[in-house]
This record gives sequence, C-alpha cells and structure tokens, in this order.
Amino acid sequence: TLTEPLVSQISTVTDHQPASMAAFWMPFTANRQFKSAPRMLTSASGMYFENDKGQQILDGCAGLWCVNAGHGREAISEAVARQVSQLDYAPPFQMGHPLAFEFAERLIQHTPPNLNHVFFTNSGSESVETALKIALNYHRLKGQGTRQRLIGRERSYHGVNFGGISVGGIVNNRKTFGSGLPGTDHLPHTLNIDLNAFSRGLPEHGTELADALEQLIALHDASNIAAVIVEPVAGSGGVIMPPVGYLQKLREITRKHGILLIFDEVITGFGRVGEAFAASRWGIEPDIMTTAKGLTNGAIPMGAVFVSDAIHDAFMTGPESMIELFHGYTYSGHPVACAAGLAALDIYEQEGLFQRTLAMEPVFEAGLHSLKGLPGLIDIRNIGLIGAIELQPLDGQPGERGRRVFQHCYEQGVLVRWTGDILAMSPPLIIEKEHIRQLVNTLKEGIQLAFQNHE
Ligand code: PMP
Repeated sequence: TLTEPLVSQISTVTDHQPASMAAFWMPFTANRQFKSAPRMLTSASGMYFENDKGQQILDGCAGLWCVNAGHGREAISEAVARQVSQLDYAPPFQMGHPLAFEFAERLIQHTPPNLNHVFFTNSGSESVETALKIALNYHRLKGQGTRQRLIGRERSYHGVNFGGISVGGIVNNRKTFGSGLPGTDHLPHTLNIDLNAFSRGLPEHGTELADALEQLIALHDASNIAAVIVEPVAGSGGVIMPPVGYLQKLREITRKHGILLIFDEVITGFGRVGEAFAASRWGIEPDIMTTAKGLTNGAIPMGAVFVSDAIHDAFMTGPESMIELFHGYTYSGHPVACAAGLAALDIYEQEGLFQRTLAMEPVFEAGLHSLKGLPGLIDIRNIGLIGAIELQPLDGQPGERGRRVFQHCYEQGVLVRWTGDILAMSPPLIIEKEHIRQLVNTLKEGIQLAFQNHE
C-alpha cells in the first residue's frame, strides 16, 4: 500500500537509519561492508562530529582534509543563506557577478607573489584538469605546441578524472580504468622509510630524487614536455614528505628547461602545512597552483586554480573579442560557493589560522612522535597539521591492521583516515592541546590492540 513506505520513511528519519541503503552507491567505499554496519554522521560543531548514536567523534581529519576552520561556522552558514536568497545563480560564461571578482582579489592576497589570477572550478579534480589544460594551451600560444608530455609522480593523487589519474601514481586507477592519457611520465615518490623513518618535518635524505626529472628531459627532450605536477606534501598516497631542498630542485630544473611547475595544493592549501600555501612556506613560486577543499572550509564544493602573471599575460594578448581559454564549468565561480569562500577566508584571517598551524605544529609533532616505540610502528611523519603513522602490515593481509586501528578509534570517538596500513591525521586548524591528547591516546590504544590480536 501507499502508506507503508511512508511510515518506514518517517521512522527512519528519527533513528537516522534509512530503510534501504542500496539506492546510494557510495564513492571510494566498500559499499557492502559499510552497509552491513553503517557509520552515519548526523551533525558537527567545532572539532567534533556527532553520529547517529549520539556519540561525539573527534574529527582528526578535518572531514577529508578540508574543514580547516572547524565545523558549523555560523558566519559561513549565514553568508550561504543570504547569498542563496540574493543571487542563487548567475551564468558564468559571458556574464559576471561581483562576488567572484571580490573573492579572486581577496585570495591572491595570500598566494605566492607571481600567482595573481584565479580560475574557479568545483573540486580538486576539476582544478587539476583545468591546470593541465592551461599548461598545454599556454605552450601552444607561445608557439611551442610540441610541449605536450605531462609528468607526475609515483604514489601521487590528483583526483579522479582522466588527466588526473594519468599523471597520478595510484596503482588501482591503472588496474581499473585503462591506459589513460598518452604521453605521461612519473618521477619516483620520495618515501624512504629505510633512511628517513621517524623524521620530524621534512626528511633529510632524497633531495637527489628530483634529478629523475633531468633523466626524463634527456630521454624526451624539454621541447616535448609541458608540465610537472606535484603535491608539495603527497596526501592520499600516504602523507609523503618532500625531502629538504627537493621542491626547490624541481623548481630549478623546470625553470631551466621552460617546463611549467604545477603545485597541487588541494590538501596543503589554506594553512594545512602553515602559511596559506606550502609554496609560501618553502618560498617557491610554482607557475600554477591547484586548490579546493579548505577554499570554502568544505561547506560548499569549490576549487580554484591560481595562475602566474606570465601565463595569464600569454592568454590575454590575443584579439579582445576572443574567448581566451576554451574551458569552464556551469558552476565556475558559483555565487553561493564564493559567499562561503569569502566567509571562510574572513575566519582564516581574523583567527590567524594559517599562523596557528605553525604554533601548534610542535605540539602535534610531539604528540604523534610520543607513539614511537609501540610495537609494529615503522614510521611517523608530520609537517604542519598533517601527519601519518605507518604500521607493519599483517602477513598476507595488507591494510588489515590499518582498518582495525581506524575501527577502534571510531568506536572510541575519534575519526582518523586509513589508507592501507597508513593512518593519516589532518585535524581542523583550531585544534587544542586536549584534542591532540585525545587523538594520540586513542591511536595508542588502537595500535596496541591491533598488534595484540594480530601478532
Ligand atoms: N588533488 C589532491 C592533491 C587531492 O588530495 C585531491 C582530493 N583528496 C584531489 C586533487 C581531488 O579533489 P576532489 O576530490 O575535490 O575532486
């Protein structure tokens, strides 16, 4: 009858468990496993989520590396509500609205000095595709259309679209989705646990890994290479640090050969490693920078690509009536996203959150490294407010120990992120000492249990 499904829908609203979970195909999730024991978050405030059982869950991940100012910021929700009623949407092609211009102008106050132009997108993946297309188009405009090869790195994550998975170094993408874009190459990743285990901040060994770029240039010739894209700190591939001097070396080599350097700062942007961007912390000027996540504090989907004056100028010198870049999204510079982003930026500035990362870094570092010596830990690494703990995998069951620690922490009210046997932490930048204590103590119990039950 008609009433039955209605009744079950109503009852599910109160206990937060939908009658059927099959309709929603969840992303990057073991759907069947999840749906047999769902973990449902129902509200959030400050450093905590609340789940459907009324339990407070300390957010050790800033959601998914994005809620940098903490949850439930009223200034953001008010700005969003105001904007939806004032101007819910404006077409972004051949039409404008003031907030997009204002937001771009405010953002470039925080970027490295050469990056003064913003192209808006809706996600990190779209920012990456946009950056790669700008790079190819730029060389063509400069009369160097043979520069088409794109270079990424092993273990790097640049989103889920075809350009991003092609320059990315995530093996599952290669196993699953075919061969990707032609003409991509990969530099080695920089994780070296033998030499750098338990480094604090940037590891000492591995600067010379940047020389692999010279080898690719020797092989292909610079005249065929468009760009190198790197995450300054690789996040999703396991929180992998750049060795001291490595990023500077990539900058020197790319500059020498006229190759564009793209920093994918989707995770590292907006204060995650201290300063607004990793590029600023290490005094590097990339040619293009991709961002998303913290751009709106995660409240509304949005991404932004920052472009150098040199690149922007190259596009702006053609006939005035032409569309300079044949690219854009229905929701590029969406007014509601701009409102959320402006409100988030106000908070970051007023609360000095990028500087706060640097102030909290030693406390976070000391907390994580206090776990050194626990059985089965093979590495702890950290910079700013991002860190990872790597566990010795269980024989024949890689990822199982990571999953157990994650599960234990969640049951005990702490959200960490787990990728195989690597646990990643990236809390909101408003974190206090007592939250760090809770995070570390819960991780400690989880790790001890994972090894007790799984010697
Ligand atoms: N680049 C990097 C470095 C990322 O970490 C991510 C997301 N984790 C992306 C791109 C893709 O972002 P999105 O999921 O918003 O498409």
